[in-house]
Amino acid sequence: QFKQSDALQRLPTQFFASLVKKVEHLKQAGHDVINLGQGNPDMPTPAHIVEKLKEAAEKPANHKYSPFRGRQELKEATASFYRREYNVDVDPDTEVAILFGAKTGLVEISQCLLNEGDTVLLPDPGYPDYLSGTALAGAHVETMPLVERNHFLPDYHNISREIREKAKLMFLNYPNNPTAAAADRSFFDQTVAFAKQHQIGVVHDFAYGAIGFGSGKPQSFLQSPGAAEVGVEMYTLSKTYNMAGWRVGMAVGNASMIEAVNLLQDHLYVSLFGAVQEAAVHALNSGQRSVQQLVNTYESRRHAFMSSLQASGWDVRAPQGTFFAWLPVPKGYTSEQFADVLLEKCHVAVAPGRGFGEHGEGYVRVGLLDSEERLQEAGKRIAQFPLE
Ligand code: PLP
Repeated sequence: QFKQSDALQRLPTQFFASLVKKVEHLKQAGHDVINLGQGNPDMPTPAHIVEKLKEAAEKPANHKYSPFRGRQELKEATASFYRREYNVDVDPDTEVAILFGAKTGLVEISQCLLNEGDTVLLPDPGYPDYLSGTALAGAHVETMPLVERNHFLPDYHNISREIREKAKLMFLNYPNNPTAAAADRSFFDQTVAFAKQHQIGVVHDFAYGAIGFGSGKPQSFLQSPGAAEVGVEMYTLSKTYNMAGWRVGMAVGNASMIEAVNLLQDHLYVSLFGAVQEAAVHALNSGQRSVQQLVNTYESRRHAFMSSLQASGWDVRAPQGTFFAWLPVPKGYTSEQFADVLLEKCHVAVAPGRGFGEHGEGYVRVGLLDSEERLQEAGKRIAQFPLE
């Protein structure tokens, strides 16, 4: 038996593995489980993108290795997308790296920029992969609590001088998984100023960049002046075009960070399947009609779910973005206990907030990843439990 490396042993345990098992178990026993515990988009990729893939898969040129660092057309399509959608100028040659989904970039960036013992600032609650990357790099983690009274944004004033001075890198994610909060331009401006003052690199995870409600489209971090001097944004086609299985993502922004990611990737991968890259170019250039439909669907689901909760007396905050709702746990339960009760008694699977960090305790995350009727039903079952 081979012993795992120290780096591997530092990886956090997968908190949700047991939830997946329990759901499977109940399903096998014949129960109709409304599974809102995970973050896997339930809708298919738009047909015109799939058609493009089929066509491109027929071309022998696509059966060979694709160029290292990805196709030029895909980098250019990414730059055009940022110009069109966010009015941000990006140099496709030096400011875009093609990724195997945002996840690889989010994990790799720590290995690219951190040495053992370096300090990194992570949001708590937060997407677990930030912790995986920093653990592999052997970095020291300081958390930035995301609490409701500060709209689930980190409060930079609460970071001690010592930590500010030590920190090399920070991770942010808006629209936010799991809290469903959004960030506005002034928060990102403040972030750029903070990062410049303390020479902290910023990694903004923009996985839900397409999914915002109410006050308009989510802000890109790169819209703040000077953002590309201090950070990168990780984008992905997974949610925007329901392409989670295709594994197409991109890092956009600071040229030295992009070069570092490319350099590491030169040693890990050649590049994505050429046909996937062609279809990704097509998706990015295809305008926003399918994206608007997607947002409308999530907006209707959000409405169905929130009104069902409200009708049963749960007056809780509505999501501002993403396809999640972040609900408080009724008095007397921990997040894990409440998730267990919902699953076992009501056959509704949700993710316990504790799985996203210490400050996720007191909440559960609900994925709006089923039909309106099913979400209404789930809302009814959840709100049987009085909040107070
Ligand atoms: N970042 C966040 C916050 C996510 O929720 C997810 C997926 O669930 C990802 C990144 C991963 O994106 P990708 O599919 O591009 O790897």
